[in-house]
Amino acid sequence: MTAARPFSPRFSHLRARLPAAIGAACALCNGPAPIGQLCSGCTRDLRHSMRHHPWRCARCALALPAPGPCPDCADQRPSLEKVIAAFDYIYPADSLILRYKNARQFQLAAAFAALAVDAIQLASPGGDCPPWPALTPLIPIPGSHRSLRRRGFNPAGEFASRLGRLLNMPVLHSLLYREPDHLKQSTLNRRQRRANTAHLYYCARNIRMPYAVLVDDVLTTGSTLNTAARALIAAGAQRVFAVVIARTPYVARDEPEGSGLPDTLSSPD
Ligand SMILES: [Zn+2]
Ligand SMILES: [Zn+2]
Repeated sequence: MTAARPFSPRFSHLRARLPAAIGAACALCNGPAPIGQLCSGCTRDLRHSMRHHPWRCARCALALPAPGPCPDCADQRPSLEKVIAAFDYIYPADSLILRYKNARQFQLAAAFAALAVDAIQLASPGGDCPPWPALTPLIPIPGSHRSLRRRGFNPAGEFASRLGRLLNMPVLHSLLYREPDHLKQSTLNRRQRRANTAHLYYCARNIRMPYAVLVDDVLTTGSTLNTAARALIAAGAQRVFAVVIARTPYVARDEPEGSGLPDTLSSPD
């Protein structure tokens, strides 16, 4: 019986990186984790606020500072029935999103999808979301040409693909389209965002489906998702839901949105 060969001193610096290199390390703490997933401790921490924050909008999942109506949903007459978010866009989850979107760590989509499945199961059927019938499609929000060129992938599309595999739901990548040449959402306040996205999306064809589920990476004001939902309803969808990776926290209404957030957050860009 031969003993395991020790790491050569020349390569000992790689020992700590080995789990990450073979995909068996948690993307947050670098501890042991199932391949492509976060460890159980980080999973629990990431889900904590979504499960235990005392006040949250039942429609858009916005964590509220006190009981009361959600200002965005009250103003927008939302087309969406309900948004399910895997976790809140707060530390340290925000770092995962930035690595996913900006550092091309698209393998994180698998961990995000697992967390989203957990949130969906929590909301349905025992929670406040009706079960989606078989063959309900997942429809990712399309990225702009500019962001696709920069990133090389569509974060919402990659997340939708992973989610579809886990939920055994079809993913329609070529149904929803985005008009070109709109302003970057993260530079705009709430009112400007709504105007900017008012006619941003359209469907390539009519659809006959009772339910449709939009998929996006980060939900900020809901302008993008509500505009996309209106496009799906105009094309024939009857009830539109949404699943997102992360929900941004409450922002005071007069603040120009995006001022304290990375400029890569908004969905259209
Ligand atoms: Zn961890
Ligand atoms: Zn709301």
